[in-house]
Amino acid sequence: MKLSIRFKLLTIGIVSVISSALSVLSVSLNEHQTLYANSVKESLVALTENTADDILLIMSDNNDSFLLRSALLRFERYEHIEYAILYDQNWNQIEIYLKPSLINKFEKELITITSKAPKNLPLGVSVLENSFYALQEIGENKFLQGYLLVTHEYSNPIEKSQKELLKLTLPLIFIILAVAISATLFTIRQQLFPLLKLTVFTRHISRSKNYSKRFTVKGSDEVSTLASSINTLLEVINHEIKENQEKNNQLTEQKEAMYRLANYDQLTGLPNRRHVMTLLHELLQKHSALDQLVALLYFDIDYFKSINDRMGHEVGDKLLVEVGRTVTKLLEKDQILARLAGDEFLIIIPNPPSKQVLFNITEKLTTAFNTPLVIEKWSIQTGISIGVSDTHDAGYKVNDLISYADIAMYHSKNFKKGTATFFNSQMLIESQRHTLIVNGIIDAVRDNEFQLYYQPKISNQGIVEGLEALIRWESKTLGSLSPSEFIPIAETSGKISDITKWVIDQVLDDLPRLLEYSNKNIVISFNISSYDLISGWLEDYIRQLISVRPNALQHLQFEITESSYLNDFDQANRLFSMVQEAGGSVALDDFGTGFSSLSYLSRIDIDTIKVDRAFIDNFINDYREKAVLNSILELSDQLGLNICCEGVENIEQAKYLIVKKCHLMQGFYFSAPTPIEELSIAVDQAQQRYQALGLF
Ligand code: C2E
Ligand code: CA
Ligand code: CA
Repeated sequence: MKLSIRFKLLTIGIVSVISSALSVLSVSLNEHQTLYANSVKESLVALTENTADDILLIMSDNNDSFLLRSALLRFERYEHIEYAILYDQNWNQIEIYLKPSLINKFEKELITITSKAPKNLPLGVSVLENSFYALQEIGENKFLQGYLLVTHEYSNPIEKSQKELLKLTLPLIFIILAVAISATLFTIRQQLFPLLKLTVFTRHISRSKNYSKRFTVKGSDEVSTLASSINTLLEVINHEIKENQEKNNQLTEQKEAMYRLANYDQLTGLPNRRHVMTLLHELLQKHSALDQLVALLYFDIDYFKSINDRMGHEVGDKLLVEVGRTVTKLLEKDQILARLAGDEFLIIIPNPPSKQVLFNITEKLTTAFNTPLVIEKWSIQTGISIGVSDTHDAGYKVNDLISYADIAMYHSKNFKKGTATFFNSQMLIESQRHTLIVNGIIDAVRDNEFQLYYQPKISNQGIVEGLEALIRWESKTLGSLSPSEFIPIAETSGKISDITKWVIDQVLDDLPRLLEYSNKNIVISFNISSYDLISGWLEDYIRQLISVRPNALQHLQFEITESSYLNDFDQANRLFSMVQEAGGSVALDDFGTGFSSLSYLSRIDIDTIKVDRAFIDNFINDYREKAVLNSILELSDQLGLNICCEGVENIEQAKYLIVKKCHLMQGFYFSAPTPIEELSIAVDQAQQRYQALGLF
């Protein structure tokens, strides 16, 4: 049980007041008793002495017993005198006085007591068995006549007198007690009030947790000291709390920063791959339970790599940020945009109401990039290619959903950049075929499934001056595959260098026979890809080839498309000047299909322009195409470059090109690509076809 200080102090106060009152009372009662006893003694001595004197007179006169009795009867006046006995000098009882009220009660007893006792009593007053005994000699020593014994009540009168005293003093005591207790209470209250205030204050602090408050200290007593100490303590607590808070804030900031770093892309501020995967996972779980649709839009930026390479990484970074910002503006609150890696982004569309709505979203996104983005000094015309998948096709598996959207995006990229493609099951079949092709390339090199076909290039003089090596793949599992299908796959899957290496080695292997089947000055061209340039292996490979077979290059021509050349301009220039120094030559393939600007032509190391088949197909019927073709022919003439027209399929085309002094022609009219075994037949055929033109 908890007892308050107030209660304890009050109890102590009351107990002390009462006990002091009691002790005072008991002391005064004692004192009263002593005083009473002394006064009784004194009066008793005086009374017995006087009575003894009177008795002595009577005894010496006539010893009249009547007079003696009368002398004793005077004690009747004294209420508390119990009895008086007169003895002669031999202690024989002469006369007795007995208080009337005690006559019946004590007579016998008294006589027995007094008959034995008086001799032993001292002279004067003594107290024995609740009575005063006063023994007085009658007469002087020599003339001793007898003794007088007077007994006087002791306890009764004292008790009575004490009661009287109490009657008088008790009310006073009670008043004093009441005053003392009230005073104690008041003092306690007065003294404890600041303490109580302090208690209330500390209770308030502990409830409100507001440690900035301070107790107003007044005076310099113990409570004030305690209050000051509490204030100091509060100061320390407040300081500690503030410091802790700062540390906590720092920790929270650090935690948030770490969370941001782990979950958000630093450049664009968008959720990163890791974070979006978690979000997608959770969303799919939720929506799968509710059987609700989730759609994914996977997209990347068209030509991002080339923009990055040509304009620098800073521009590339800003482009990524700008694309992120543009797309974010077009999305609803519940749609999440994330940057997966590089220029690849993902949009999660939860619960799209219909395919049409999804289509509208993709339209909005693709058309947002119709106008060029201005970044630094550049006006960049780009676009985004989107792939769309939804849980209806892919189910609720994260990987399937993403890979289906990726497959669809691959379609947009390959067939129409800047558009959106919705996933369909045919794409999955194609994608699986894509995977089989990627995986099959290395085996094809090892198992000799590749073969080179050669297509003659004939001069306007009717001489086969060149052969283009074109690869063929007869796969055991996939059947015969066109290079137009597997070369782009090999390029994007990093397998192209294996093919190019194989082609160069094969051409070099075939070279003696090729010279034999055509002529000694023949130039064998082969196709290289931009990926061969970028990865850098080709430069090393050719340098090594030159050092091992210094003359081999004389018969070799590198065909590279203009976009590949320009993709890595410096590296291409370095490689091709080395090739040209070693006696080799370079042809710009598929000319006219890529860049619109022709200014670069004066800055690159090439020998030949190969005009793309697209210009040859139609020029006979279309005067504008003919005009373009004529311009190309004139331009290359003026730049001192050889020109080779591809896809020559008929007599009209051949005749016109010869008249226009096109240096070389290549196409089915002269000869299709053929295996080396049939090459001499193909060469003959090409020359015969030339003759058949009947120009000369
Ligand atoms: P390309 O370098 O433009 O090769 C010419 C393509 O046109 C060849 O197709 C050839 O067969 C075809 N062709 C030739 N004359 C005619 C014609 O009169 N009419 C029509 N319609 N087509 C004609 P092919 O062999 O299917 O090769 C397609 C493409 O695959 C090549 O286009 C080239 O880009 C690539 N390719 C072929 N072999 C290789 C190779 O060994 N390495 C690399 N990197 N690419 C290769
Ligand atoms: Ca070619
Ligand atoms: Ca070509």
